[in-house]
Amino acid sequence: MQLTGKKALVTGASRGIGKAIADRFLAAGAEVWGLDIREPDDLQDRIAQAGNKLHWVSADISKLGEIEAVIDSVLKESGGFDVLVNNAGITKDNLSFRMSLEEWQKVIDINLSAAFFIARTVGRDMIRKRSGSIINMASVVGIHGNGGQANYSASKAGLIGVTKSLANEVASRSVRVNALAPGFIESVMTDAIPHDAREKMIAAIPMKRLGKPEDIAEAALFLASDSSSYITGQVLPIDGGMFF
Ligand code: NAD
Repeated sequence: MQLTGKKALVTGASRGIGKAIADRFLAAGAEVWGLDIREPDDLQDRIAQAGNKLHWVSADISKLGEIEAVIDSVLKESGGFDVLVNNAGITKDNLSFRMSLEEWQKVIDINLSAAFFIARTVGRDMIRKRSGSIINMASVVGIHGNGGQANYSASKAGLIGVTKSLANEVASRSVRVNALAPGFIESVMTDAIPHDAREKMIAAIPMKRLGKPEDIAEAALFLASDSSSYITGQVLPIDGGMFF
């Protein structure tokens, strides 16, 4: 699976799953625009290692009134994208009855609304070119729900709805839209889980390990590449068999 000559925009590319996807796409021959609110400390090293095929966009996607203009200017600078990965996301966990308006709204704004506005801005250009692959980072909790994560689960379930609706709208123009639904992945998020809770979590995974960001990156490469050219509107769980 190669992405030679293709251009990809990956949001949340500073660390974790987004960084793994950007690295994998670069290794597969793509030119990558990484977008994040936080510039990584080793950015210049990463750009040099990528032979200047990594470009950086500093932006806060929670600013919904500005995000389409930001993406429009990145589209002009890059000449347009063959692949978009809407990966940036946050959690603000709380029990539903204690959840503040801010905890609800911020998660919906970043995980769902921003992803929608970015997808339609990039998608408009893909439609003109009659080609493109959009990948939205959902989660298994967007399918199954999770106590303490009503906001996050709703944002990811909503993103699955956006994926299927947009896929339907753009399929006739050869633009594909799919979602990945990771289970529990090694990350800053899961590092913060106390040891005992983490052990219980691993015990509940049939494959008896957390996923790695690279596991998600391989699936993203498949959906980005021409190897998946007849697949659209789908949600692919990557969860070690958690939900057979
Ligand atoms: P992470 O926190 O390590 O990375 C998220 C990235 O998004 C960060 O670099 C962060 O700076 C960026 N970001 C956050 N808010 C932003 C904003 N307002 N504007 C621009 N960038 C912003 O998380 P991760 O574990 O790598 O998760 C990546 C994606 O995968 C998220 O959408 C997450 O919901 C999803 N996911 C993660 C897991 C997991 O177990 N880690 C499981 C299922 C789904």
